[in-house]
Amino acid sequence: MSHFQTIIFDLDGTLYPRNSPVMTELDRRMGLYMERVTGLPPAEAHTLRKHYWRTYGTTLNGLQKFYHVDAEDYLAYTHGFDARDLIRPNPALNAMIAHLPQRKLIFTNGTREHADNILRALDLENAFDDVLSLRDFDYRPKPDPKPYDVLRRRLLHAPQQAVFVEDSVYNLPPAHAMGMTTVWLTPDSADIHDGVDCIIHDIIDLEQFL
Ligand SMILES: [Mg+2]
Repeated sequence: MSHFQTIIFDLDGTLYPRNSPVMTELDRRMGLYMERVTGLPPAEAHTLRKHYWRTYGTTLNGLQKFYHVDAEDYLAYTHGFDARDLIRPNPALNAMIAHLPQRKLIFTNGTREHADNILRALDLENAFDDVLSLRDFDYRPKPDPKPYDVLRRRLLHAPQQAVFVEDSVYNLPPAHAMGMTTVWLTPDSADIHDGVDCIIHDIIDLEQFL
């Protein structure tokens, strides 16, 4: 029996694959929003977006800094699609999640509405005990310290009794520093990275690790 009491799941790229059409749609909508706000042609908007992402962590942070974009307007547009048109439930994943005895949390840089949209499409609406999302973090996404402070307060026990699984490797070290066990979900062969305790290549492999 595992000593872990809580399993924390990232959402996008973790509960469904990174190469899913949902990721393509999110990317497409962020690109269109960027072009509309900046007035730049697509290629230049794309370059500026990559710059924002590298320098300020997210496209939104850059747009807020230089174009005074309203976060809710940006989020409503970029998340404004029905995920049921783009992804289907993964029966093996749903069976695994139902089988895990631990408390289960979603810890996402998306909005609550986005999490609900994805979880509905995956038929996982009732599978999680709590959802921590971007507004809970005052719009400061992982790996900013704020989301991890919120997460620590939401745990009912020491961080050492929690596992965090996530596809973006840069979001794992802050959780690892708190004492959580960190699992990096990556489809590629990869070397252990700072702040990573374990690598899995398919979310289904999480159960074996536990
Ligand atoms: Mg992710």
